[in-house]
Amino acid sequence: MAEKLSIVRTVAELRERIGAWRKRGLGTGLVPTMGALHQGHLSLVGEALKKADRAVVTLFVNPRQFGPKEDFARYPRDEEGDRRLLAAAGTHLLFAPEVAEMYPSGYVTQVSVPQLGDVLEGEFRPGFFTGVATVVTKLLLQALPEVAVFGEKDFQQLQVIRRLTRDLDIPVEIVGAPTVREADGLAMSSRNAYLSAAERAIAPALHRAIAEAARRFAADGAADAAEAWAASTLLDAGFRAVDYVTVRDAASLGSPERGKPARVLAAAWLGTTRLIDNVPVP
Ligand code: AMP
Repeated sequence: MAEKLSIVRTVAELRERIGAWRKRGLGTGLVPTMGALHQGHLSLVGEALKKADRAVVTLFVNPRQFGPKEDFARYPRDEEGDRRLLAAAGTHLLFAPEVAEMYPSGYVTQVSVPQLGDVLEGEFRPGFFTGVATVVTKLLLQALPEVAVFGEKDFQQLQVIRRLTRDLDIPVEIVGAPTVREADGLAMSSRNAYLSAAERAIAPALHRAIAEAARRFAADGAADAAEAWAASTLLDAGFRAVDYVTVRDAASLGSPERGKPARVLAAAWLGTTRLIDNVPVP
């Protein structure tokens, strides 16, 4: 049986554990999560262990990245289940702070990443990336890991984090890990648990539509046509609304540029559940 994984809940204990490893010459890879873990999260632990001697996973449902009408209260939480999965995946330490440890009374500072953080998700979820950038900055400064791993599933988030670590000179290597999918193509997500059986059957259409849009754009360079085709395909498949389906430059998330890597990104609603996904343009 896997050894019981220890959990620390304070920044002081986190620093003590990582500091002791550092003294022994052992480097740390950090994997920030909001819990309700699945194979996608565990693949990030695997990436961290390829790059570093010790893997530390953080589990914190960050209230600052949820809007007032979003799902903070009902976001799935299962610390014991997460702890078992992480132990089996070879995690060395779990950091699961209370909200008051991260944002003690009097806390005011925010980190925002204009432009990159204002488009796409930032447009539909105002304040979201300020919440993400703030908590990730704090986690990186708390742990001071050599490496931190983030999923391409949240592609814009990955770019925002790359930008902020460069801009703030945070000495960490940011590693992006490929999206782990169900057999039918649906990107794994903690929020997939919200889907009814009927919605779950429709959900893989999101990946199919963006993959086909990426192929069409690669073939003829016509972004508008590929985007319009994908949006109407999603509505026909049973999605209630499409926030965006768009071809973007993979680094700046602005308009695609000839000869540079591009990405198709989408967000769409199945009933009351909002799904996001993205794929590279081949
Ligand atoms: P979350 O707990 O949803 O905030 O995600 C924590 C980390 O796991 C983020 O870096 C996500 O991009 C990553 N992640 C979530 N789903 C997947 C997936 N299906 N494949 C790879 N990484 C993922």
